[in-house]
Amino acid sequence: MKLISYVHGGTESWGAVMGEHIADLASRTGYATLAEFLGSPAFQHRDTYLPEAPTLRLDQVALLPVIPRPEKIVCVLRNYLDPTQAQAVSQADLPAYPPLFLRTWRSQAAHNAPIVHPKESNALDWEGELAVVIGKAGRRIPEDQAYEYVAGYACYNDGSVRDWQAHARQIASGKNFEGTGGFGPWLVTADEIDPARPLRIQTRLNGEVVQDGDTSQMIFGIPRLINYISTIVTLVPGDVIVTGTPAGSGFTRKPPRFMKPGDVCEVEIDGIGVLRNPIIMQE
Ligand code: MG
Repeated sequence: MKLISYVHGGTESWGAVMGEHIADLASRTGYATLAEFLGSPAFQHRDTYLPEAPTLRLDQVALLPVIPRPEKIVCVLRNYLDPTQAQAVSQADLPAYPPLFLRTWRSQAAHNAPIVHPKESNALDWEGELAVVIGKAGRRIPEDQAYEYVAGYACYNDGSVRDWQAHARQIASGKNFEGTGGFGPWLVTADEIDPARPLRIQTRLNGEVVQDGDTSQMIFGIPRLINYISTIVTLVPGDVIVTGTPAGSGFTRKPPRFMKPGDVCEVEIDGIGVLRNPIIMQE
């Protein structure tokens, strides 16, 4: 099932995508937000809430980030082997622990909404990533139980303001400008994704492929990330883990390359869909 958050007629809601239509599930389930629903017993019986003939069309709503206000957005730095260098990287060169940082929810942008280029920067970069959305609260989750805590998956563009990221050793300033992190187009429930199968992740800038990797290149896989993060803090329904980006970000190129107003950036992941964001300059 594909689940979305959206605004219709000035009211925030959420629901399931049914072809070109939407089933409004806030009204049908009684849960005000998608995050609450993911953590509820009703989520296990989600098919029973679908109407036979939904009347709301997808093009009548404005999408929100899949989870508009997660309690936590925990991101992993890079986390992918570069296939062109994989043979040269020895085990000793790999990090022993996942390097983490946090984004705040105001830094997110919905599918089709603009990613906002800060006027204070000339270095807005793309990072196509797989987002894991938590569906069950847990602390110190064992790796062999980790997938039981996953509600679903989405595409993320961990948009990064590189010059601000480089102001200090801590990169938070470059990872939290408002409206720089695309999150969408929807959550695909975990039953539709086989975690054993590598998922291809492709980022395109104005149609040109700029990143092309797959999840088999992850240094720390999803169970390890869930185990590690939940050792620190309780993961709760609606939390988002942004799992790192394959090779090919703009700042790693020679010469560096960044997103400009008027560009369109897309992140496509197998079995999930295409997250698309136009880039606009901040007014
Ligand atoms: Mg990233």
